[in-house]
Amino acid sequence: MTPLRPGEVRSTCCYCGVGCGVIVETQETARGAREITGVRGDPDHPANFGRLCSKGASLHLSATGHRYEQTRAAHPEMRIERGEQRRRISWDEALAHVAGRFAEIVRKHGSDSVGLYISGQLLTEDYYVFNKLAKGLLGTNNIDSNSRLCMSSAVSGYKLTLGADAPPCSYDDLDHAGTVFIAGANPAFAHPILYRRLEDARAANPAMRVIVADPRRTDSASDATLHLPIAPGTDIALFHAMLHVMLWEGLVDRSFIEAHTEGFDALRDTVRDMTPAIASGLCGVPTDDIVTAARWFATGPTLSLYCQGLNQSASGSAKNAALINLHLASAQIGKRGAGPFSLTGQPNAMGGREVGGMATMLSGHRDINSAADRDEIARLWGVDALPATAGKTAVEMFDSLADGSLKAVWIVCTNPAQSMPNQSLVRQALKRAEFVVLQDAYANTATAPFADVLLPATTWGEKEGTVTNSERRISRVRAARAPYGEARDDWRIAVDVARRLEAQLRPAQPSLFSYRTPEAVWNEHRATTIGRDLDIGGLSYALLEAQGPQQWPYPAGAAGATERLYLDHRFATRDGRARFANVSYQPVAEAVDARHPFALTTGRLRDQWHGMSRTGTVEKLFSHMPEPCVELNARDIERLGLDEGALAHLTSRRGSIVMPVKSSEAMQPGQAFVAMHWGEEFLGGQPGGRVAHGVNSLTTGVYDPVSRQPELKHAAIRIMKA
Ligand code: SF4
Repeated sequence: MTPLRPGEVRSTCCYCGVGCGVIVETQETARGAREITGVRGDPDHPANFGRLCSKGASLHLSATGHRYEQTRAAHPEMRIERGEQRRRISWDEALAHVAGRFAEIVRKHGSDSVGLYISGQLLTEDYYVFNKLAKGLLGTNNIDSNSRLCMSSAVSGYKLTLGADAPPCSYDDLDHAGTVFIAGANPAFAHPILYRRLEDARAANPAMRVIVADPRRTDSASDATLHLPIAPGTDIALFHAMLHVMLWEGLVDRSFIEAHTEGFDALRDTVRDMTPAIASGLCGVPTDDIVTAARWFATGPTLSLYCQGLNQSASGSAKNAALINLHLASAQIGKRGAGPFSLTGQPNAMGGREVGGMATMLSGHRDINSAADRDEIARLWGVDALPATAGKTAVEMFDSLADGSLKAVWIVCTNPAQSMPNQSLVRQALKRAEFVVLQDAYANTATAPFADVLLPATTWGEKEGTVTNSERRISRVRAARAPYGEARDDWRIAVDVARRLEAQLRPAQPSLFSYRTPEAVWNEHRATTIGRDLDIGGLSYALLEAQGPQQWPYPAGAAGATERLYLDHRFATRDGRARFANVSYQPVAEAVDARHPFALTTGRLRDQWHGMSRTGTVEKLFSHMPEPCVELNARDIERLGLDEGALAHLTSRRGSIVMPVKSSEAMQPGQAFVAMHWGEEFLGGQPGGRVAHGVNSLTTGVYDPVSRQPELKHAAIRIMKA
């Protein structure tokens, strides 16, 4: 490994699931403290080989300076009465108050009257402790993560077809693919370093075909060999029609289907009716392009890259499964350069899934509905039993706070008052809750005013642990400077509250939370993976230190990490055979109509991250897109009687915001795009002095029945001159 210079620390970028390695540069200040002064790409990290995108390359700017200091939570705060200002308190007082109020509410209303809403930004060690605290100590499965808004349909898609939540591919597959099929993703903006790798692979192999299925002509779509500009939500119609073509033209691999799969006959009957002509009528893609896409897909080797366009949908699980059906039918899986590859949005959504830190999962990819799995974890944790019923998922949690059935919520490292759909309901929910704890590095988020207790947490550059990226690669995250103010590590805060809760809920019993280091937490997590599909029994912090980031599974005695899954075509189902999912096309939850004629979609900008708590303090990251806007087709702007830059009301059935309009060639007539990042801070100046809460004032909380992921990618709106 490249030797480090004095003051340098190896770590991992905290922004997206590509998981790039960084070298953090620090200098000693006059007062003897360490300050982060620079960041460069780690040339030895296999995710990025030294490259960084604009966000990663400015990480140091987000961790220093006056503006940054104004945003950080520096010390614990508390209020007793709503309407009061929170006052500064000691850590002891804060921890005792949180534990006391949670114990009191559990005693009065039962374990399921409290919930924890955590984050894909947390490190695996943080996630593990919170999950154990909820399920093993509080006795509730009411712990969910903002990963529910991001990846849960990808999880369901994998489990429905391949039997386990395990992305089978590696970034290296880009170098061996003949066709890359990108669906509902814009990696040029959202996963830039992976996209650079795709550009390199295309330069090395000019015959490579890139297909992008996306309603918008994004940068990724503009670069594609073939852009399929599908109508929002019609992915399954497209995928089924592609399978129809494969069947019609004899492009399916019958020997693979027979030897390694189940359920093809039923699916074949379903897709028989989805001719390219019918699909074209539904999704708006020319028939010939559907036929071309099917032929290229079947020829391969074909790698699919997909993200929120499939996941954030009321039929997201079915969309994921329908795409994986194409891989199984054409045997584009279990070989180099091929397979269905879900791109992770957040830096550690994968790690959260591994520890089971969600309402519907258990540690080590175990099933919350399986008594045997629950017993196994109860034994490993040293508790009598785990709660049997699935907990409340993200949308359900806020619905339950709003109707009063959930009394208290502990929010960690996330900002639901901006990022959850249907903001007016979420804000009512936070107001109605009896007790709201916010644990975050930032004190200026939209959620902060709702908090009765604010617990200041460390963040990137200050904390130690691990993350797992999209290709199952576990990387170390390392501290380069001391915590800001009185901030403490998330796992440590969870342990400190847990020990106080134990004194009240299970007195005189040995503690379940005797960890002193993140490594001790990680070692316990490792024990829960033994014998599972994600077995990391052969890994240790020491091995990660010596040999760098590694892909799971990595069982004890293994010669090394596992680059690709299913090379033997044995899948993670009980009998080793993959399952075709016989799913049907479902239209979007909220169709456009005469009153709400525009199809609103949401997404990321190139240089911003989520609610901008971190990127919003870095001036140069605004040069790409300096202010909020709604992107529309030029013809729509004209038809609405607006000029470029004029203000317009955007109104859905749930709320309204005002934004300037911007014409964009990426947009088809009838479509509108608003980036997810802009919140209250950037949406000032609303008519009547109103505060606007970002695009999620407009989005719907309708969710997928399997994954429970809400349809953030589509809402019907009307647009009128402001
Ligand atoms: Fe960070 Fe993602 Fe950019 Fe890599 S691609 S530097 S992980 S934001």
